[in-house]
Amino acid sequence: MISNHSIILSSNHYCNSLTEYSRRKSREVYIGEIPLGGENPIRIQSMTTIDTMDTEGSVAQTIRMVEAGCEYVRITAPSVTEAQNLQEIKKELRKRGYKVPLIADIHFTPNAAELAARIVEKVRINPGNYADKKKFEVLEYTESAYQAELDRIRARFTPLVKICKEYGTAMRIGTNHGSLSDRIMSRYGDNPLGMVESALEFLRICEDLNYYDIILSMKSSNTQVMVQAYRLLVQKLDQEGLKPYPLHLGVTEAGEGEDGRIKSAVGIGTLLEDGLGDTVRVSLTEEPEFEAPVARMLVDRYIKRPGHLPIKKVDKIPINPYQYEKRKTREILNIGGENVPRVIADMGLFSDVEMKDLKYIGHHYLPELDKWIMNDHGTDYVYTGLHPISFMLPNGLKEIMDYDAWILSDDKVNKFPLLTRKQVLQLSAGEVHPVLNFLRIRFIDLDKAIIRLLKEHHNYVILMDTDNEHAMAEQRRFFFELIEVKIDTPVIILRKYRNISEEQLQIYAGTDIGGLLIDGLGDGTTLSTQLLFPRAKDKMLKLVKQFNIITFGVLQAARTRMSKTEYISCPSCGRTLFDLQETTARIRKRTDHLKGVKIGIMGCIVNGPGEMADADYGYVGSGKGKITLYKGKEVVKRSVPSEEAVDELIEIIRADGKWIEPDNLVLSS
Ligand code: SF4
Repeated sequence: MISNHSIILSSNHYCNSLTEYSRRKSREVYIGEIPLGGENPIRIQSMTTIDTMDTEGSVAQTIRMVEAGCEYVRITAPSVTEAQNLQEIKKELRKRGYKVPLIADIHFTPNAAELAARIVEKVRINPGNYADKKKFEVLEYTESAYQAELDRIRARFTPLVKICKEYGTAMRIGTNHGSLSDRIMSRYGDNPLGMVESALEFLRICEDLNYYDIILSMKSSNTQVMVQAYRLLVQKLDQEGLKPYPLHLGVTEAGEGEDGRIKSAVGIGTLLEDGLGDTVRVSLTEEPEFEAPVARMLVDRYIKRPGHLPIKKVDKIPINPYQYEKRKTREILNIGGENVPRVIADMGLFSDVEMKDLKYIGHHYLPELDKWIMNDHGTDYVYTGLHPISFMLPNGLKEIMDYDAWILSDDKVNKFPLLTRKQVLQLSAGEVHPVLNFLRIRFIDLDKAIIRLLKEHHNYVILMDTDNEHAMAEQRRFFFELIEVKIDTPVIILRKYRNISEEQLQIYAGTDIGGLLIDGLGDGTTLSTQLLFPRAKDKMLKLVKQFNIITFGVLQAARTRMSKTEYISCPSCGRTLFDLQETTARIRKRTDHLKGVKIGIMGCIVNGPGEMADADYGYVGSGKGKITLYKGKEVVKRSVPSEEAVDELIEIIRADGKWIEPDNLVLSS
């Protein structure tokens, strides 16, 4: 296997600027009459889930998707029969006045691709399975044997390129992390470099044939891998002198509901922040018309982004943007060092927190037992501002309060003060907590005096605030400064939003906080309630609960703290063999207490096993009413009747020692 280190470290640049919002200038590619890339707005697209042979159903669903905001619609073409039927779908859409460009989705079947390329405006091929079949074998190649493989691919792929050129059809070379060929895996590994090389092998053939109407994508269900692969792709295109092809962004198998939205934001939003991406597909296990509004919400944030407050430029990136590595920090109590990122709930707006209120942040008091129960969303700290909590807190929950309240508190040992920059510079060491103090500052506050203080005193944790519209970039710049001046103080990322909807909060927090966590930056996070309009206490408590759940969701989506089961479910398409939404809900109901376990739920056996990537267990449709169950990549049971499959799946988890009974609550006195 080839080492990727020297390639990676030769250049760190993958975007125009890390501090000033600026969209990467890509090549303009026309898909039918709607161009993408270049100066065009970031386009929104999605994929139908109906059987492609159902012409009327496909047309109706396409229309619903267009009405919901899709600018391109992708339809699966698993064989020449479906590819041929794209003609009928297109004819009917045009007859009804819909000019939306159609994209044929191809896996394994070059003959379907060659037919579809004559019918629709774009074909999507997966370089992992266009000319290869996956057997999960480790292969060893000599240079000449590898070259012979490339020649074989060229022979198989060239006819499609020629047809696309002749018909003016665009093409997406879309790598999926989960379906890399055995050949690529053996040579480059199951990593971002393997993903990039998988696409480049096909791209070089296109350029040799003077065909450039290409869009590239690097999807994965692992947000860290996905972000690293896109960055590496851009860097490699520049390095090799290839054209700046437009990028299609997506997180595969993101799941449903809140988890799917947050995960999509963490992956897609992180790249959009750096100006990468020309078209977006959010893939949710929901009706496809629900995807476009989420994509629109992600993309629209950048319309007004240029012109944000300036951020100090950065000459050198002090982290490796192509490989996850957590920033090394000092451990202070249970924050920083090897600890998981901590969550702080903000209850600073309440003047009278009662025992029963803590259930909104995951700590339930049982009066009859005089015990506390903590669920998976039990926060580590609660901030109470100027109104300290009057009762004894449960184990596992610590209180932070404003310094002015702390100094008057009866308990200055187990409660911790939050200080402003001014306070911290005025007070002497004896007047603050000897072990843990929180210092709330913005990047602008990080001057010589604060740097000196943080170097000399190791009882501070930074609560990193920002007022910049380009918030993620400014906070990242703050981290870079800390790394450069060699300060290992732990940092809690603070984000505050002014009265936004729950869905916006999922998307914005996913992007802003997730974008930092993905690069190993941050020892914890808090969503501040400071900018919310004050409302009745019960409404505020519900908001605090929502904030708390979203915070844990972001940590999970960025793969930095697993607090719940992860479902890697495919968005479904014309190949799907069961009702994915209903099945996902059924599996979720029985397994959502299995903290950190990853379960893949895939609609078909053709692509499912590959695309569920790093799932621990897999539930894959293998025939009408038949399910094949996996442990990792290994088949454990084939053709299980679907009505028994969830029980069988649980048995496999049990036999593997990972099953726990649903009573997952932690008791504390
Ligand atoms: S795994 Fe799901 S989305 Fe992918 S091809 Fe199969 S059914 Fe379609």
